[in-house]
Amino acid sequence: MASEFDLIARYFTRSAPAGLLGVGDDCALFPAPAGEQIATSTDLLLEGRHFFPDVDPRSLGHKSLAVNLSDLAAMGARPIGCVLGLALPRLDEPWLAAFADGFHALAAVHGCPLIGGDTTRSAHDLAISVTVFGAVPAELALRRDGARADDDIWVSGELGAADVAYRLLDGQYPADPQRLAATRRALEWPEPQVALGMALRGVARSAIDISDGLLQDLGHILAASRVGAALDYASLPVATALDGMPEDQRLRAILGGGDVYQLCFTAPAARRDEVSRAALAAGARVTRIGRATAQPGLTVLDARGRPMDALPRGYDHFPAA
Ligand code: ADP
Ligand code: MG
Repeated sequence: MASEFDLIARYFTRSAPAGLLGVGDDCALFPAPAGEQIATSTDLLLEGRHFFPDVDPRSLGHKSLAVNLSDLAAMGARPIGCVLGLALPRLDEPWLAAFADGFHALAAVHGCPLIGGDTTRSAHDLAISVTVFGAVPAELALRRDGARADDDIWVSGELGAADVAYRLLDGQYPADPQRLAATRRALEWPEPQVALGMALRGVARSAIDISDGLLQDLGHILAASRVGAALDYASLPVATALDGMPEDQRLRAILGGGDVYQLCFTAPAARRDEVSRAALAAGARVTRIGRATAQPGLTVLDARGRPMDALPRGYDHFPAA
């Protein structure tokens, strides 16, 4: 039977890059980046709440880190390293090996090595806690409070697929293997927009990732920045996998659907070319979806420019600070 320390050695110890002290001591050590600030963020993933118990462990390892890297991306921060807390209800080595593979593979892509953590037995469900560390020059961090009236509002990637995959897997929608196949990747293998976040330093004025849905997360920027916004529904980049779905389901997925590890950001209209260049350099797709307004509140305009009133429930009132 493997001990706690065998598991750590087997699945979580990788040689740390030069200059870092990784797994194996009381603390990890990494150099304080000269002239920058440390960006750090934690996300907790709980079985039954954030993932289905039978989810592919490799994708779960990937996603556990991806959702955290997405927070660094939304700040414009460069990843430094991460720590992983695991509460395991049982010892299942094939599961752990696949989980670790998915985690380390994404860590390698983004230069965000696993440098520490904690591993315990859980009396109940599986719980995963990941903390990431990154670096960003203070004055270039993409905060939520930097938007100004008349800024363009942009979104990266496509909207809607993760919400549809979730509802299909959860049995809220009738089984539809084809649509599930077309949407599932967005839910289980999100690609954090780290390169885009860094490329938007000094270009975007504010940013957030859409982990809780476009309207709700944009609402956080608006509240923090004390501005409003008008979005053009027809301009939103919608995943083609949603083609042919009932309009109410589409609307809910596009405007309200969470688990979208894309960036919503604002930038001055004079910087449109720079935004496009940043996206090109980062290999990301970005779409202009509306603009910030001096008048508080968030409206979504239909194709004829009229405010839509049937916005996803829970997201139709926004703090107008
Ligand atoms: P401590 O008793 O000081 O908490 P542990 O025995 O829990 O130390 O951990 C030993 C080493 O293994 C530490 O460096 C810790 O950061 C690392 N570690 C433990 N669990 C994990 C994990 N799940 N992922 C990465 N590193 C881990
Ligand atoms: Mg410990």
